[in-house]
Amino acid sequence: MSDDCLFCRIVAGEIPANIVHETAGTLAFRDIAPKAPVHALVITRTHHADMAALAAADPALAGELLGAAAETARVEGVEAGGYRLIFNSGPDSGQEVAHVHAHVLGGGPLGPMLCG
Ligand code: AMP
Repeated sequence: MSDDCLFCRIVAGEIPANIVHETAGTLAFRDIAPKAPVHALVITRTHHADMAALAAADPALAGELLGAAAETARVEGVEAGGYRLIFNSGPDSGQEVAHVHAHVLGGGPLGPMLCG
């Protein structure tokens, strides 16, 4: 755990979250500022800065994260309609929290992949 990491503090139960799915290695919860009718974040319980760091350190956990993202889409009711997974990584992506997370977005047409 990283003391100054927001998502590590959610894993530790120090900051509340609306949890929608859990596995041994992952936690999924609703985004506090949703960008779509359904917007959940799927994170690893252990701290990895981004997807590349996770894939290098623990490929099995990277696979578990992808499976948890698909399961989160199912429990959030967007599997049939379709959804988008986004992993922001680094400054140009706008990544705000340096703890790997998949955005699961759905609940209606999402529009073009990029705006602006
Ligand atoms: P990113 O820009 O890819 O790092 O995404 C970080 C996401 O975390 C943003 O969509 C925020 O709205 C979301 N977020 C920040 N704080 C919280 C929180 N306490 N609970 C849930 N989501 C959060």
